[in-house]
Amino acid sequence: MTDPILSVDPATLADLLAYPRRKMRDNMDVRFCPHATFYNPVDDRCLYCHQDMECKWLNHNDELVAIEHKDAKDIRRELVKAVDYVEAQLTAAHLNRRACNCDNCVWLSKARQVLGLSR
Ligand SMILES: [Zn+2]
Repeated sequence: MTDPILSVDPATLADLLAYPRRKMRDNMDVRFCPHATFYNPVDDRCLYCHQDMECKWLNHNDELVAIEHKDAKDIRRELVKAVDYVEAQLTAAHLNRRACNCDNCVWLSKARQVLGLSR
């Protein structure tokens, strides 16, 4: 069975990944990073960094890597991580609101749709 995510237009997927990318970049504190947010797998400091999730995601999902060159599994996994990330930023008020129109909630509903998740 092919992943339905493959039927989504690559431009739409690229667009969808742009939002969490911007968010993670904004949230990251570069002052603590000795590598200017370029993940370094051989540096212990990167292994134990409190920003490792954002950092790995950003390095893996750089906009210079064309989405067409990735497989469905990869895109799905990274998008799920991004959904978790954005969800974690929401306050309880958003989760209780049925139709919240803030940037986070609008993005989440788009992302869930692409992933075929509903809640
Ligand atoms: Zn909201």
